[in-house]
Amino acid sequence: KSQLLKSLKGKENVTADGRKIDIFANIGNVSDVARVLENDAGGIGLFRSEFLYLERETIPSEAEQFHVYRQVLQLMAGKRVIIRTVDLGADKQASYLKLEAEANPALGCRGIRLCLKRPEIFKPQLRALLRAAVYGNLAILYPMITDRTEVEQVLELVQEAAKELEADGVPYRIPEQGIMIETPASAMISDELAELVDFFSIGTNDLAQYALAADRQNESIGELYDPRHRAVLAMIRMAAENAHRFGKRVGICGELASDTDLTEEFLRMGIDELSVAPGMVLKVRKRVREL
Ligand code: PEP
Ligand code: MG
Repeated sequence: KSQLLKSLKGKENVTADGRKIDIFANIGNVSDVARVLENDAGGIGLFRSEFLYLERETIPSEAEQFHVYRQVLQLMAGKRVIIRTVDLGADKQASYLKLEAEANPALGCRGIRLCLKRPEIFKPQLRALLRAAVYGNLAILYPMITDRTEVEQVLELVQEAAKELEADGVPYRIPEQGIMIETPASAMISDELAELVDFFSIGTNDLAQYALAADRQNESIGELYDPRHRAVLAMIRMAAENAHRFGKRVGICGELASDTDLTEEFLRMGIDELSVAPGMVLKVRKRVREL
């Protein structure tokens, strides 16, 4: 591994015929940033912000979130950091949110649905992100999008947060904003969505679950849950084509991104970025340079 690191450190991820791709890392906590840097990832493609909200008694304040986001941006020293807004639901409970029990949490009020319904949860996070954006190369990512109206509402809330910060005299910046393509609906209308946002990040974990009607946590149907299914690959291709039609970036941040049997196909689709677990970064970078 250290041999591999030595041979790749600081090098671009470029194929023999000159196709370049960004290889970023996924993290779930500030302490993971050390492993991102150790593995010489080009940035953070997915920072799952749930850790801030889980296993505690009260909602994290705007100030607390601001400090965490700023810390990560400063540690990454100008490299791109994509922070995903909180993806909670009946399956990822936080007692203080008093979420109602649901028979089908994966199909229920999670991700952006919950955030739009409960702006008192969402607004402090948006304000914290806009404030942190001043300190580095931040992009915001919204989970579980299925319709353009959700995107329009989020963009409106961000404008509101900016106006509030302006009125409060607090420094802020509106960074790039993108959406997860992790529902079949969002993939199928990705032409319409690409116009509204700066980038896509394809979440193959959920995209496979919803496309194949196979609960990603249900081991008894594990053989049906196959993110390499043609239906999933077709939706990835469609989202990539639509993103590029509108000149927008498209990455993959689900587990499938680290499947090196598919790296060549992803490059052919024109994927701009693969974001993988920190421990997989070097393996994927090596693969790109072999193609
Ligand atoms: C995904 O769904 O592929 C994804 C990256 O998000 P999560 O695994 O956090 O649902
Ligand atoms: Mg997901």
